[in-house]
Amino acid sequence: MNALIPDSAQEFPKTRPVRADPPSSFRLEVDDAGIAWLTFDLPGTSVNIFNDMTFRDLNRQLDNIEHETSIKALVIRSAKDKVFIAGADLKGLRALPPEKMEELLVLGQRTFSRLAGLPMLKVAMIHGACVGGGYELALACDLRVASDDDLTRIGLPETQLGLIPGWGGSTRLPRLIGLPRALDMILSGKLVKARQALKLGRVDEVVPREHLEHRTMALVRPRLLEPKCGPSWLKRMKTRGWQLALPLIAFKTRRDLMAKTRGLYAAPLKALDVIIHGFGRSIDHSLALERQALGTLLHMPETGRLIDLFFKKEEAGKKALPKGHALPVTDVAVIGAGVMGAGIAHWLAGKGIRVTLTDISPEAVAKGMERIQKLVAEGLKRRAVTKKEARDTMDHISPAHTPVPLHRCQLVIEAATEDLDLKKRIFAGLASRCSPDTILATNTSALSVTALATTVPHPERVIGLHFFNPVHRMPLVEIITLPESSDDTVATAFGLVQRIGKTPVLVKDSPGFVVNRVLIPYLMGAVRLFEHGQDPKAMDDAMLDFGMPMGPMRLLDEIGLDVAAHVARTLLVSSDVLTAMVAAGWLGKKSGKGFYIHNGRRTRVNTAALDLRKQGGEAMTRQHLQDHLAGMLSMEACRCLKESVAASAGDIDMAMVLGTGYAPFRGGPVAHSLTLGNVPTNS
Ligand code: NAD
Repeated sequence: MNALIPDSAQEFPKTRPVRADPPSSFRLEVDDAGIAWLTFDLPGTSVNIFNDMTFRDLNRQLDNIEHETSIKALVIRSAKDKVFIAGADLKGLRALPPEKMEELLVLGQRTFSRLAGLPMLKVAMIHGACVGGGYELALACDLRVASDDDLTRIGLPETQLGLIPGWGGSTRLPRLIGLPRALDMILSGKLVKARQALKLGRVDEVVPREHLEHRTMALVRPRLLEPKCGPSWLKRMKTRGWQLALPLIAFKTRRDLMAKTRGLYAAPLKALDVIIHGFGRSIDHSLALERQALGTLLHMPETGRLIDLFFKKEEAGKKALPKGHALPVTDVAVIGAGVMGAGIAHWLAGKGIRVTLTDISPEAVAKGMERIQKLVAEGLKRRAVTKKEARDTMDHISPAHTPVPLHRCQLVIEAATEDLDLKKRIFAGLASRCSPDTILATNTSALSVTALATTVPHPERVIGLHFFNPVHRMPLVEIITLPESSDDTVATAFGLVQRIGKTPVLVKDSPGFVVNRVLIPYLMGAVRLFEHGQDPKAMDDAMLDFGMPMGPMRLLDEIGLDVAAHVARTLLVSSDVLTAMVAAGWLGKKSGKGFYIHNGRRTRVNTAALDLRKQGGEAMTRQHLQDHLAGMLSMEACRCLKESVAASAGDIDMAMVLGTGYAPFRGGPVAHSLTLGNVPTNS
């Protein structure tokens, strides 16, 4: 029995390989019913990607298919466990000289057009990641059947990387699912699970993984007898009816895009142009627009920076540490059921980890559980989790308001109030309630992890795990290591962070670690400019134009002025105005007043705060404000690099992008300093 065909020989006819090709990344077999099974299996790797070689292999198999008259239908599938097709070989693509890049674009487009033009039913049988070029191949097929497995993710993320779908995706998708949905998919770049993909029209059927082949056969078989031309099963959008609405859709989409990105990102704007100008024109015309746009984007420095960040994040999420064993973690205790403790407990439980959540009183624990209930309900509403997953999450959490034994926990995460003496007491108490092997972690924002390690008999098991708020949204976790931390402790923490789908960055114990250390001088720099008469809104607007998701004064209000002042003190920075504002009870958004007055969704500058300033000053230009404030971020980031707080410039940049939303197209504060002519060094 051929290994590639399903178990039941009655259900699934025997296949025979078509021609003895030289070693290829595609295998072709034809069964007795005339169905060709084309299996993508790039040797020596767990993923399938498109590059010059795999396109040529695919073309050779398309030659075979064209010559094999017995073939009545074609099913394309992957031999990989987790990936259908992960898209283009981006590293290879970027290394190509411009003329070779152009050749590869043309080759990809021609290959998928050739596939689309085959006179038989073509089905993409999708299990695992089907993204970018992988989904563009699926779009060149007539039907897309996907497994409902959690691993199956579908999308066109190109615009997130400074590119556009250029192997026919920007052309075929709007013709398949209509303009609004296609624009949403391409401009957002979001990947979705199979069930959502079905709702959005991105796939035609979703079935459990074990039924995938069975269902594909059931779909294909009745259609084998249909005439080859004008197949009745094709649902194609008519492009004509849309012509009248085109200008309006284009206008509205561009306006929304500009509001969201302030025009800082070239790729989504180019994608919009290609889709709008290609829709309703010939496929060839639209494909030429794709090539033209990609030809420009591929050479833009922002694209390079976005791709570098993508690879850095991918690598951090997957790489194993060179030293130490990542031990299995099944049970975790979270100490403190406040904003962070509840958020961490919710996230861990959602990943199948049993969590004991403790706080000092029944009320505090109940409040934490309420928070978690709310997070779960929100997840259900957003369809991020199923009802069963929501139930399982709650079932995985055991609340406790007394010091329960924690011997079965492999890890304890302390997330109590930010107070060094309190945390020291908690750590000292934990040592007696845990097994000597338990790893003790703190979620402190800026306190010394070294100081906490001195309170326990096993400092080699102490580490910092700095999650960001809100935990369910923020992808970064800073892992603070001490010289004493054992290799196994670091590897276990690193492995756990990866397993729960967050991105770990290893940092040294230094005040504020990386993210707060870089952020706080910038925020305090903005406060100083405020003290010297600069307008808070002008500063915020300048930094929004720079590409930050929020200006510094607004961010201070969000964080809470008391919290910011506290962290700043830990980093030995202070401000009279900030102290006065906190004393006046102006704590930012949570108290309704800070640098702004917060009234529901409306905010306006708190003019009373302006009166606290000692001096007025000449208004700085937007550019000057940007240079000054962005310069502060870059300067501190370069200092971190010099002091080896993180291992590399890439780590610092990634931490700032993921931890603060630092403008990704600028690559991060260290990368930005390079564009200013600085040469950061960690020597
Ligand atoms: P919070 O005030 O919301 O919660 C702190 C919780 O700790 C409270 O429920 C309190 O009752 C509890 N607590 C106090 N003493 C305790 C004890 N002895 N044992 C058990 N629980 C105790 O604070 P938070 O915002 O959740 O912050 C918690 C930690 O996380 C702090 O170290 C903070 O610096 C850090 N952190 C906060 C954020 C943030 O944005 N809020 C982000 C990252 C890290």
